[in-house]
Amino acid sequence: MVLHPLFGHEAARKTIAHALRTDRLPQVLLIVGEDGVGKQRLGLWVAQMALCQAPGEEPCGTCQPCHLTLTLGHPDLHWFIPVLRPKAFEPDKQLDEVAEAIAEVLAERRTRSLYGPRDGMTMHGVAAARLIQRHAALTTVLGGRKVFLIGNAERLVPQESSPEAANTLLKLLEEPSTGSIFLLTARDATGVLPTIRSRSAPLRLGRLRDEDVAAFLSTHMDPPLKASEVAERVAAAEGSIGHAIAGGAAATQGNAAAVEVLEAVFKGAGPQLERSLRQNPWQARGEFTTMLDSLADLLGEAARAATGERPRRPVPERLLSAKSPARLSLALDRVQVAREAAQGNVNPQLLLAVLTTQLAEVL
Ligand SMILES: [Zn+2]
Repeated sequence: MVLHPLFGHEAARKTIAHALRTDRLPQVLLIVGEDGVGKQRLGLWVAQMALCQAPGEEPCGTCQPCHLTLTLGHPDLHWFIPVLRPKAFEPDKQLDEVAEAIAEVLAERRTRSLYGPRDGMTMHGVAAARLIQRHAALTTVLGGRKVFLIGNAERLVPQESSPEAANTLLKLLEEPSTGSIFLLTARDATGVLPTIRSRSAPLRLGRLRDEDVAAFLSTHMDPPLKASEVAERVAAAEGSIGHAIAGGAAATQGNAAAVEVLEAVFKGAGPQLERSLRQNPWQARGEFTTMLDSLADLLGEAARAATGERPRRPVPERLLSAKSPARLSLALDRVQVAREAAQGNVNPQLLLAVLTTQLAEVL
């Protein structure tokens, strides 16, 4: 067995089991929830349910399709993971490159079923959309259903960058062929292209109960954790197994870098420039986009705080003091523009210099 068991989300499982029994499972599901609550793991569970020969409230766990799903070897289960933009120029070669990159990640997940967040530069590009189309056009290998699990659906290419690929994908989602199921996962539905969102039925996953996180940590960590460590991590995890594995969300590097950038923004032009020049120009581009993601996250939390809600993680004091939601939302827009530009061929130093100047204006 490769996959670790699915923890929690009993209500969602019940709904799905019932929908499958009564043949009413929407063919396009958008599974939404915080990082690390197990959205893709639930997607794999749905796939197993849909492919299993004798599903009840849970997949039987013993039939051949169950076995193949749990070892990530089912030929009718297509798990799409965002990968780096292909280097090849020719469309067919790009397709091969993306297929290979995904196969590599899957091979890794067969040996280690716990994985961290994907590099910020990875995406589901044009070639991935064409690959999905290609698999969708083929008949099923085992004669049952065909399941597509598309993780991090926020990273699907926008229509403008390739109308043809986007339209192909939209058409697939609009009229999925009989027996095909598309499972998309995203942290936040608003990050998914509206055209895709409107074609999918939402399924929201809440945070896990502390006892589920504790049960996971007590049974699946290698080397095993002491009871006191388990308790500590559960307390910091906010119902996310992903956060618990990473040892607490707030401590991540991306967050530290984002806080540093914000401090420079508040200090003025000199420190902004200095911080921008310290940004690695071309290496570690993933690190750069992860920092931008953390920055967006901090601004989002500050906006929550500005509307009277409690922020879910520590936010720099300067960002909290008298910043209106409108300004924070403007700042968030700027970060998102930079995030998109970072996918292209723009120098991160330059991007950051422009971004910090813009943030200083609006914040
Ligand atoms: Zn089964």
